[in-house]
Amino acid sequence: MIRPSILDLKGVTKQFGGLTAVDHIDLQVREGEFFTIVGPSGSGKTTLLRMLAGMESPTGGDILLKGERINDVPANKRPTCMVFQSLALFPHRTVGENIEFPLKIRGQAPAARRERCLQLMRQLRLPENYYGKSVTKCSGGERQRVALARALAYDPQILFFDEPLSAIDYKLRKTLEKELKDIHRETGKTFIYITHSLEEAMVMSDRIGVMRAGKLVQVGTPNEIYTTPKDKFVSEFMGEVNLFDVRLGEGGRLVSDTFKTSFSIGAMPAGFRQGYLVIRPEFMRFAGDGEEVENRLTGKLYNEYELGSRIQYQVRVAGHVFLLERLRQRPFRARLDEDVVVGWNAKDSILVAD
Ligand code: ATP
Repeated sequence: MIRPSILDLKGVTKQFGGLTAVDHIDLQVREGEFFTIVGPSGSGKTTLLRMLAGMESPTGGDILLKGERINDVPANKRPTCMVFQSLALFPHRTVGENIEFPLKIRGQAPAARRERCLQLMRQLRLPENYYGKSVTKCSGGERQRVALARALAYDPQILFFDEPLSAIDYKLRKTLEKELKDIHRETGKTFIYITHSLEEAMVMSDRIGVMRAGKLVQVGTPNEIYTTPKDKFVSEFMGEVNLFDVRLGEGGRLVSDTFKTSFSIGAMPAGFRQGYLVIRPEFMRFAGDGEEVENRLTGKLYNEYELGSRIQYQVRVAGHVFLLERLRQRPFRARLDEDVVVGWNAKDSILVAD
């Protein structure tokens, strides 16, 4: 079921003097969706989020919340709330005081405030005896949950997240990513999240929007973005890839001038003349090791990398690096510098434009 859209962006643009930080963005975010905006540093993510949250006005285009234009409605007049990387908690207050703050400024009576606060603490798996605990005595993960509980206390229609996990160490971050996705399920609220980490975006989001130089270059589910990247930039941004330039040759084959050979390809995109062939490391094979492949290249095994559940191999073909991955249970047995044949099947390759 496609849910109705909660937020509509029509040609949203932000210029700072001569610089276009956000460039004509069209987007619909659906109600209850976990939508992540991802892109490299300086691509305009923060500026876009600040406009959505009402901390900045667009210089062009419109932002509609449930059909109503909200371009110039300030942040505190919008039914939305932002969770910052710094979390912006009151440091000398207790967990309870922090979470109850929005309820207090709305004039709720102490007993009702406390009841709602404890309910939010249960939802966010904060022990009840933390109610009177100073936030300075909470761990990074607990503070994160306090900040989230306080944001939920505003009962916003949309929660915005400005890289809340980027300053947290790897292990805790991995736990919190999943927790945040669980909390999203439990609350059913619309979450709009920005990050420069593809991994984070993949784990949590229903859909991802990839930004580059102020433009939204692709919007799709994590699976769509991973398996059908729109161009070279998105394919490289979405993890390690084997990528080389190719052009259309005779008989619908792909010609690689780099490797002085041609490859078969499943479906040729209409109008394709030249571009890039992308093959994910997990689709690259060692030919002749019980695997039949349609396209082959001979090279030397250069290195092996332990990735935990998988092992990655680097093979060099005519000075070009190829990456292959295998599950740990099926390691490839060869010595470094040994000649190996690598390959892939036509259906496992992706063709992208520049
Ligand atoms: P990061 O991941 O590093 O935070 P970002 O993708 O969030 O980057 P923005 O912070 O939105 O990118 O910046 C986009 C562009 O707009 C950058 O070139 C930045 O220098 C510029 N910019 C952002 N805010 C302002 C401002 N207040 N005045 C002038 N230029 C700005």
